[in-house]
Amino acid sequence: MIPYSRQSISDEDINEVVRVLQSSHLTQGKEVELFEEAICEYIGSKFAITFNSATSALLAAYAVSDIEPDDEIITTPISFVATSNMFVALGAKPIWCDVKLDGNIDERFIERLITPRTKAIVPVDFAGKPVEIAKINEIAKKHNLLVIQDSSHAFGSSIDGKKIGTFADMTIFSFHAIKPLTTGEGGCVVTDNEEFAKRLRLFRSHGIVKKQLWNSDMVMLGHNFRLTEFAAALGRSQLKRLDNFLHVRDEIAHYYDERFQGNKLFSTIKLENNTTSSRHLYPIILIPALQCPKEDIFTELQERGLGVQVHYKPIYQNSYYIEKFGETRLLVSDDFYRSELSIPCHQEMSMDDAKFVADTFLEVIEKYSYRGCSF
Ligand SMILES: *Cc1c(COP(=O)(O)O)cnc(C)c1O
Repeated sequence: MIPYSRQSISDEDINEVVRVLQSSHLTQGKEVELFEEAICEYIGSKFAITFNSATSALLAAYAVSDIEPDDEIITTPISFVATSNMFVALGAKPIWCDVKLDGNIDERFIERLITPRTKAIVPVDFAGKPVEIAKINEIAKKHNLLVIQDSSHAFGSSIDGKKIGTFADMTIFSFHAIKPLTTGEGGCVVTDNEEFAKRLRLFRSHGIVKKQLWNSDMVMLGHNFRLTEFAAALGRSQLKRLDNFLHVRDEIAHYYDERFQGNKLFSTIKLENNTTSSRHLYPIILIPALQCPKEDIFTELQERGLGVQVHYKPIYQNSYYIEKFGETRLLVSDDFYRSELSIPCHQEMSMDDAKFVADTFLEVIEKYSYRGCSF
């Protein structure tokens, strides 16, 4: 089975982890700092604060934004649940904004969702394709809102040569095993705001500031959300290889684009000319007639060795959200869920693998096109 995404671990990655395992510090040493410096350099941001997951990084970013009970957060339902879970954990309420055909938040609908209780806009760069961050920032500025960008898919994506992570008040990346760069579990927040950076570091580590000798002072309520030293070493080693990973992903995506161009049974997501994508996912958008046999298509693709997946069930369709916030229906988001299918695209695939995926996919899709939906 070719998974839709997977990690790539080299001998050098392994050696780096072993080096740190044999050193004096497994946590709270120099490796985390070095990894954070390397992230800042790669992204072009002032501060990077690593966490033991993107989920804890999201919670930290929301907490230091002073998000409080009954605050409203405008966000996208087409994401992993953690994007909204972590502000719901602080008592805030999701205000769902519909998406565009590419799965990214539709910036044209944001402004009408703003109320006096709105605190922040939380967009997600779906599949690695950058959101329209300039327009989102403009709306946020006009209404004095924060922009917290969940770029868990988009480490290495860019707009006009500037990396994602340099646009929002805070940007979150995930280093989960199947994300573009991995530390096993891990994540980070990047920001240019020194005050946020300071508070994020405190939140990550019990809210404790070191004083002289044995003395320390706990100045805010914090957690232990630290990354280990060996995870940081893996991250720094991976970061050296990241541009190669992205190159391979991009080549595969371009190959698919060519193979699938003009197909009448599905469409793919186009990138703007001034942007690049980490290609975390390669989403396929089936035509309405293929939404009915999608379960069969999914099963047959898996049986034939394609580790396809669906991204995502709109967050508001989960029982927890229905019980807590009631039913939500958004036209494009609901339709996106019915028609989306992610096919394998990652750095461990050869071009032969990509050809196998494209051939198999086209064959299976063609077969089911005769069945369609009986409207
Ligand atoms: C993966 C992911 C997360 C969570 O990341 P973890 O590092 O697994 O906690 C959050 N948001 C999005 C959009 C993701 O894809």
